[in-house]
Amino acid sequence: MAKQFDVVVIGAGPAGYVAAIRCAQLGLKTACIDDWVGLDGKTALGGTCLNAGCIPSKALLEASETYHRMQGGMEDFGVITGEVKLDLAGMHGHKDRVVKSLTSGIEGLFKSNKITRLEGRGKLLSNSKVEFAPLKKGAKAEEIEAEHIILASGSVPVDIDAAPMNGETIVDSWGALEFQEVPKKLGVIGAGVIGLELGSVWRRLGSEVVLLEAQDRFLSFADKDIARHALKSFEKQGLDIKLGCRVLSASASGKSVTVEYQDGDGKKQTLKVDRLIVSVGRRPNTDGLAAEESGLQTDEKGYVDIDDNCRTNLPGVYAVGDVVRGPMLAHKGSEEGVAVAETIAGHVAHVNYDVIPSVIYTHPEIAWVGKSEDALKSADADYRVGTFPYAAAGRARAMGQTEGLVKILTDAPTDRIIGVHIFGHAASELIAEAVVAMEFGASSEDLARIVHAHPTLSEAVHEAALAVDKRAIHKKN
Ligand code: FAD
Ligand code: NAD
Repeated sequence: MAKQFDVVVIGAGPAGYVAAIRCAQLGLKTACIDDWVGLDGKTALGGTCLNAGCIPSKALLEASETYHRMQGGMEDFGVITGEVKLDLAGMHGHKDRVVKSLTSGIEGLFKSNKITRLEGRGKLLSNSKVEFAPLKKGAKAEEIEAEHIILASGSVPVDIDAAPMNGETIVDSWGALEFQEVPKKLGVIGAGVIGLELGSVWRRLGSEVVLLEAQDRFLSFADKDIARHALKSFEKQGLDIKLGCRVLSASASGKSVTVEYQDGDGKKQTLKVDRLIVSVGRRPNTDGLAAEESGLQTDEKGYVDIDDNCRTNLPGVYAVGDVVRGPMLAHKGSEEGVAVAETIAGHVAHVNYDVIPSVIYTHPEIAWVGKSEDALKSADADYRVGTFPYAAAGRARAMGQTEGLVKILTDAPTDRIIGVHIFGHAASELIAEAVVAMEFGASSEDLARIVHAHPTLSEAVHEAALAVDKRAIHKKN
């Protein structure tokens, strides 16, 4: 007889594993199928996020920033550094230990929540059935029955014909997290989130970095003001960002790659690099996820079709995370996972897609939530703006982190906060206050009346809220 569960989750990334844990917490008999195999040949929970995305990239960003800071420029603090050496293998060791500790942590949580972990491929069949094909050699595929099925198969990098990856010199983001030597010259196709984060890592470690971006506008999905400040800053750091480029070809020969592209002026250019990262976006991973006869609907871009509550077109089948519409962010997927688990258990659940924070972990960081000023302008909205520069915040000065600003946008008639954009040190942490404020429907006056500890970077958020009403204290209004 087929194994039976209340819930089967396909995929153990931050969408799937969180859904599985919440289902189990709610008393549902849960199994989670996942096929992730690391570079060491071992299976691991956590999906892209823990194994080849959010976590390893942040470990390298932190380590490379530390290395970079230690190299000097701290004389203003009265700190004179001596010779600083890079131990790249040690840096990878740090990254790998962080990943291992977290993926083992999920393993422990699966055990303590009595979740059945199934290592292998899952495929949605018809009539509430899933085929499980174990990774273990010689083990036979079996059918599993479940009242509810959650699809959480994530996403994979987009590849482009002009720059076919070879896993060695032309790589995706996972490959770029694993370079065993610092490339002398590094090319990056796509100056988006991955391009900027991983470009920053290798730049700090000594690479000459050139980013080829198709769009004429830098970070077109971020607020224009913030993107303008960020571009200036990143160029000062040595990231050579070329906008309006069309990559024509990339060919690897021995240890180098020759990239031909048309620049922003339409001129043909050639770029020779040691390594090339292709980071032009990710696409939903639905390869082999559902049998034809299951009748699962996907949209024209390949995302699994869902309603507002992550229900697919099939009864009892849900989909969450990168494989469905919305920003490809770990926290968005996790919240969907929790909401689906609670829906299945008969609770009322909801994800507020209007208030999902985004962060780019460059230095300084970029973080935002809600609407950008450009979106408000195009919608002809009646809005107000308050900004405050980091340079005017005492704590930022004490930290030597004076670059950047906080920008708050409000709906003019109601004063309700509708967007917050930050470029500056620890923006990833500061944005949380904006998220809370927006979730509670706060006005800029609410934020302005809240006491913020002194001296903190959060005072810049406070002052930006005051600035909406032209009453910031530490700047001219
Ligand atoms: P995934 O994490 O992709 O997990 C899907 C899992 O399902 C995988 O383990 C996969 O092997 C498995 N799977 C797929 N199909 C099947 C099948 N048929 N059977 C069995 N198993 C299957 N997001 C952030 O919010 N913050 C960040 O800082 C951040 N940094 C990133 C850095 C990089 C370099 C990258 C690449 C991504 C980053 N992201 C970040 C994005 C984040 O990783 C994704 O949004 C997130 O992992 C999506 O979660 P998921 O659970 O939907 O899918
Ligand atoms: P992205 O969408 O952030 O950036 C891709 C960039 O490539 C865009 O600027 C796009 O204009 C450009 N591009 C597309 N085709 C091109 C071409 N042929 N030539 C040159 N440029 C081209 O995508 P990404 O950086 O690959 O990241 C993928 C996803 O992973 C993102 O959507 C993001 O949600 C997620 N991610 C998040 C974080 C984070 O939250 N900090 C970090 C990394 C990745």
